[in-house]
Amino acid sequence: MLATLTALAAALVLAAPTPRGCPQEGIAVQILGSGGPTGDDGRASSGYLVWIDGRARVLVDAGGGTFQRFAASGARIEDLEAIALTHLHVDHTSDLPALLKAAWFGDRERPLAIFGPAGGPDFPATSAFVHALFDPDEGAWRYLGGYLDDEDHAHPFAVSVADIPVSRGEAMTAYDDGKVRLETVAVPHGDVPALAWRVEIGERSIVFMGDQRADQQRFFDLTRGADLLIAHAAIPSEASKSARALHATPTALSKLVRATKPGKVALSHWMGRSLHQQKPIRAIVAKGYAGEVLLAEDGMCVGL
Ligand SMILES: [Zn+2]
Repeated sequence: MLATLTALAAALVLAAPTPRGCPQEGIAVQILGSGGPTGDDGRASSGYLVWIDGRARVLVDAGGGTFQRFAASGARIEDLEAIALTHLHVDHTSDLPALLKAAWFGDRERPLAIFGPAGGPDFPATSAFVHALFDPDEGAWRYLGGYLDDEDHAHPFAVSVADIPVSRGEAMTAYDDGKVRLETVAVPHGDVPALAWRVEIGERSIVFMGDQRADQQRFFDLTRGADLLIAHAAIPSEASKSARALHATPTALSKLVRATKPGKVALSHWMGRSLHQQKPIRAIVAKGYAGEVLLAEDGMCVGL
């Protein structure tokens, strides 16, 4: 009996997945979640890791399923400089509590910065959102209130949250430590306060468009000349008017890449309705664009 259990335990150890991060040298983006809010895409929801020389430094979005993908990648929350949220929809934020809960067991001591949009009529500001989760007195998970405790006994580390104004018409720098810089601009996603992010590391840059229509000059300006654009292909060409008020059509993505000429593009945020049309969507985006158009998959690493 004991021998059987020992053999079973050994088999379980052998079956544990090997962490699969990005290469030990250079800059790369790992797709943690290439799906959207529907379950019909068979993917984790939105989430991306920026790796620099084998360490995960920036997390953009934390939708459902990305917590597990983060762990499977071998990323360490101790290495993160910042978490940048594009907006507060469930498919972009719901694994944030799971990530922070797991971090409770880790070694991080230095503060962690979270950036996200300021509020709107139907959405709280990001700081209010995080407080609704973790406020030591009133939060849903007040047992993790140490993250927001202003006293010096915060455990295991302090989380600071910055609300990025969404009413301003131009890009702003949200974070700059001399090595990593985060630029952001407000983008149209229906009535949802939403941001696009540009992560700059030295001369290299990645733009995460988030969910948006991609029809505003200021976002084109943010994207111009990036080495990599993570573009969201949430809808097919014949999408409804209400869907087109929220998301970029394939034609809008085509205009974007032809005008701003990123080095390459990864199409992500697939949902059942767009996944069925991956080939035609890719063909529309690739037409007249010189760069490579990749189809994002969970776990994929895209090097710069
Ligand atoms: Zn989304």
